[in-house]
Amino acid sequence: MNNKFKGGLIFQEDGSGDCNLFTQLLEKKCKKLGVKFLYNSKVEHFKRINNKIDEITINHKVYKSNNFIISFGPYSSQFQKQLNLSIPIYPVKGYSITLPIIDEVNIPDKSGIDEDNFLAFSKFGNKMRITSKAEFSGFDKSLNSKVIEKLIVLTKNLFGDSLDYRNCIPWTGLRPITPKGTPYICATKIQNLYLNSGHGHLGWSMASGSAKIISDIIEKKTPQINSDPFKI
Ligand SMILES: Cc1cc2nc3c(=O)[nH]c(=O)nc-3n(C[C@H](O)[C@H](O)[C@H](O)COP(=O)(O)OP(=O)(O)OC[C@H]3O[C@@H](n4cnc5c(N)ncnc54)[C@H](O)[C@@H]3O)c2cc1C
Repeated sequence: MNNKFKGGLIFQEDGSGDCNLFTQLLEKKCKKLGVKFLYNSKVEHFKRINNKIDEITINHKVYKSNNFIISFGPYSSQFQKQLNLSIPIYPVKGYSITLPIIDEVNIPDKSGIDEDNFLAFSKFGNKMRITSKAEFSGFDKSLNSKVIEKLIVLTKNLFGDSLDYRNCIPWTGLRPITPKGTPYICATKIQNLYLNSGHGHLGWSMASGSAKIISDIIEKKTPQINSDPFKI
């Protein structure tokens, strides 16, 4: 067997999951509670009156609300000039490949990291996802075939013939990175405008906790999770 993966250190508190499935089920639950989702829609403008956001424009239509949260991920700084706020969040491009598993026996059940090659791997269902790379290339999301080829070579080195490389699905995305690495989950100097953004490489892992913190802040409760590290 040409599989170099022999074992690793187990961290019992580590876990993994399917973020796509999670968000789809979350959407269903939210809809039952009355939440409306607007897809393929762009926030175009924030109207500010007396240090409060009065309304926003989405696809030429005006929407009012008591409170507004900026959660534009790597695009969060786009309104900073208009709002006269500093929101230092930058896009850092990463890659993943997802491959069907052919031979379960040689694939670890737990997700893990190959520290030597900066590869993270995670099994979900009958597929294996491998992620890597941190590129500073602005908002460009094109797939660089050389990076994908390199990822496949490194993956073959670890898992040999256990994966189906012919049906490899490559993907690229932008991590919203802050200079300190911690997200901004906080109020801004504008009364009813909040930030919940800049979660870097762990946005899904931190999503539920971040939502709890920001809802506590908006409701003027003492956050159950210490929010001090997440001020801008
Ligand atoms: C290769 C790779 C692997 C990763 N692996 C993991 C992992 O294993 N675990 C983990 O927890 N995280 C992981 N992440 C990080 C995770 O993807 C991010 O932290 C997370 O997506 C951030 O969520 P977000 O909602 O803040 O931003 P995004 O997911 O970027 O969402 C921001 C949204 O705002 C929208 N938007 C922007 N401007 C506007 C506008 N003007 N109007 C309306 N909408 C707008 C965008 O279209 C986008 O849909 C990974 C990232 C990459 C790239």
